[in-house]
Amino acid sequence: MIRSRSAIEDEAIGARQKAKQLTIPVDPTAVAAAYSARVVHESFTDDLSGVLVRKGDLNTIAVNESDSLVRRRFTVAHECGHLILGHKGEVFVDKQVVNRRNTTSSLAIDDQEIEANQFAASLLMPRAEVVEHLDQLSKSCRQRAVLVELMARSFCVSKKAMEYRLVNLGLIASPDDDS
Ligand SMILES: [Zn+2]
Repeated sequence: MIRSRSAIEDEAIGARQKAKQLTIPVDPTAVAAAYSARVVHESFTDDLSGVLVRKGDLNTIAVNESDSLVRRRFTVAHECGHLILGHKGEVFVDKQVVNRRNTTSSLAIDDQEIEANQFAASLLMPRAEVVEHLDQLSKSCRQRAVLVELMARSFCVSKKAMEYRLVNLGLIASPDDDS
């Protein structure tokens, strides 16, 4: 069963409250810790970005140490999604966690992966905080690219992830809507 977007937003808010992560940037490692998951950095080969291993009460999230900070943060948040949303399975292996749809890269497109990505976006870029922040910034800046960059910096996410989130929340137009 696939959850609605708003149900996932609510799950992410609950997780932030439990982890006392109510200001931005949200620390996904603290959220993991609130759910008994430790985060370790590993040197993975290939395009592996994260692994979640659930063993009884012990959960481990391993992230690719060669990934950038924003990428590692998104990966941890994505694995938290699998954990907190109670996805089925003991081991989750994620290649190149990409926060967009319709891409031809090797990202998984099954329901659990979509949900984990939505959870990660909701966790790191909470709707209310995004709206408020964008509102503030928009008073002094009107350039789309600059806004996206400043927003990405404040929430400590990639520009791509922030742009996707802003489009998704209906706060900025999709880049394809230029016509
Ligand atoms: Zn995943």
